[in-house]
Amino acid sequence: MNYRHLYHAGNFADVVKHATLARILVYLMKKPAAFRVIDTHAGIGLYDLSADEAERTGEWRDGIGRVLGEAPPAGVADLIAPYFATIAAVNPGPDLLAYPGSPEIAHRLTRPVDRLTLVEKHPHDFATLAALYASDRRVKTVELDGWLALGGFLPPKERRGLVLIDPAFEEPGEFDRLAAGLIAAHKRWPIGLYCAWYPLKNKAAVTAYSDRLAEAGIRNILEITFAVARPDASGPLGACGMTLINPPWTLADELRTLLPWLLDRMRRGPGAFWSVEQRVPE
Ligand code: SAM
Repeated sequence: MNYRHLYHAGNFADVVKHATLARILVYLMKKPAAFRVIDTHAGIGLYDLSADEAERTGEWRDGIGRVLGEAPPAGVADLIAPYFATIAAVNPGPDLLAYPGSPEIAHRLTRPVDRLTLVEKHPHDFATLAALYASDRRVKTVELDGWLALGGFLPPKERRGLVLIDPAFEEPGEFDRLAAGLIAAHKRWPIGLYCAWYPLKNKAAVTAYSDRLAEAGIRNILEITFAVARPDASGPLGACGMTLINPPWTLADELRTLLPWLLDRMRRGPGAFWSVEQRVPE
């Protein structure tokens, strides 16, 4: 396991993933009943953007660094506000020094009744994550293979909530594991809301994965694509996608407002595009 998210925290892919995550959590909080967030590949929770690793790649400067600082237009401002609030909360001063990962965003956009299960396999990153939430009884941190957790923790006792699957994609076969994991998880908990992230480098691999989900009979699949540059199998990551199963009914339209604005901030050149497609109807 070589992947460390600190090199990539706050990059364009994180911005899209976390802005979407925030919209889902805001929707879940509208109903009073408690919900659970299960983050199968949680990372360390909170990232120091002045750390050597983050400075070395500087990825955050082309991601969140380009998104903050310019006031969004009215329609976008309301939708992005909860995500921006989580960033402001970990940066009390004027400078952007820290970036919240998915656990921290979920921690801040949930209520006392809601629960978080955070799974991380890397021993060092797990220790950092566990220390961050050690004193919060709403949060359970688990040092485990996220693919095992996906089966083991479903359905949650709250019977509502979100499963976030954000693998490192450093090992071959990750698309197969993602498809198999989603299909098995959906069988155990068909009404759960699932959000899975993947890199878009090899279009054929993504199509095969997406077809496999559709052919498995899963309904209500929304596919998001976000490319700051033309997808390229050999160069640095420039495009990514997300699969949403049972998304909030409001999410597609919200993303159709948010993604063009985010893309204008973070585009790197020709070939940039976004899409929101109902891949399988309800
Ligand atoms: N979800 C995090 C966020 O948005 O802030 C970022 C997660 S990062 C893309 C992927 C994480 O998965 C890394 O921290 C890595 O150590 C961890 N990881 C890799 N393989 C794993 C596995 N099989 N099970 C659980 N975690 C794993």
